[in-house]
Amino acid sequence: MNNIASIKSTLDIMKKFNISPKKNYGQNFIIDANVISNIITKANLNKEVNVIEIGPGIGALSQYLALNANKVLCIEIDQRLKEVLDYSLNDFDNIIVIFKDFLKCDLLSLVNEYFNDDKDIVVVANLPYYITTPILIKLFELATSINLKKIVAMMQKEVGQRLNANINTKEYNSLTILTQYYTNTKLLMNISKNIFIPQPKVDSVVIEFVFKKNNYHINDEHLFFDILRNMFNQRRKTILNNLSNYINDKQLSSKILSDLAINVNLRPENLSLEDYLKLSNYIKEHGYDK
Ligand code: SAM
Repeated sequence: MNNIASIKSTLDIMKKFNISPKKNYGQNFIIDANVISNIITKANLNKEVNVIEIGPGIGALSQYLALNANKVLCIEIDQRLKEVLDYSLNDFDNIIVIFKDFLKCDLLSLVNEYFNDDKDIVVVANLPYYITTPILIKLFELATSINLKKIVAMMQKEVGQRLNANINTKEYNSLTILTQYYTNTKLLMNISKNIFIPQPKVDSVVIEFVFKKNNYHINDEHLFFDILRNMFNQRRKTILNNLSNYINDKQLSSKILSDLAINVNLRPENLSLEDYLKLSNYIKEHGYDK
């Protein structure tokens, strides 16, 4: 039976293997065991859930995940860390590390192959900062097919603020709305940059994303995503200007916004998720997307 005594300290592991972190892989390893314990507590895991960790690094967080969840699947890009992870995770038989690029891997096959049960899945990760957004988008898109219920992710503070932003703020953007479409978000922790080796330039946050039962009425999801992206192309311009550029017709754009009771002078950050859904459905229903 594993217990807290099975945990190896990050500093000891780093010393033993003389690791030099790779900047281009976004390697900032957590060295504070209290912070890791706190993340685990807030993630609220139990032996009935399976966990995916993206980027286990040298296994600092992974060991605690193995201790607190049913099975853990780690996906790591850096093959150099194999020897280190073999050592740090040696005491756990419910964890596997696959060496692949998360953005390119077939996650559905990996999940089916390794978990092979119908337990809920949670992602817990200290994300590589340079690809936070594409990782989240991949997870959002695959959530239903892999039975993903929640993501607890550490990321750069300003990215977290954007994902968790309120309407009418400068942080609110198309990714905020996409995030709201899939999940309910909550800021779980503020993290100082001092708890990493090497130390990053900025502080971090831990954000929780709980997947919604998606009951939105939507005629064409692709069109919705496309409109969202395009309306924020020039966020200083009015929604009328952005829509006119998108459908190439200013008069028609004005009529659409008036039919939907959306003020033509609003900026993209003044419209809610529901407004964008209405806009997308209207354009689809009237065939203005063609
Ligand atoms: N989990 C460790 C920790 O908290 O100390 C390391 C976190 S570090 C911020 C990010 C990790 O993601 C690194 O181990 C890095 O090698 C890995 N990584 C970077 N790009 C990746 C990718 N495309 N696919 C999988 N892992 C990646």
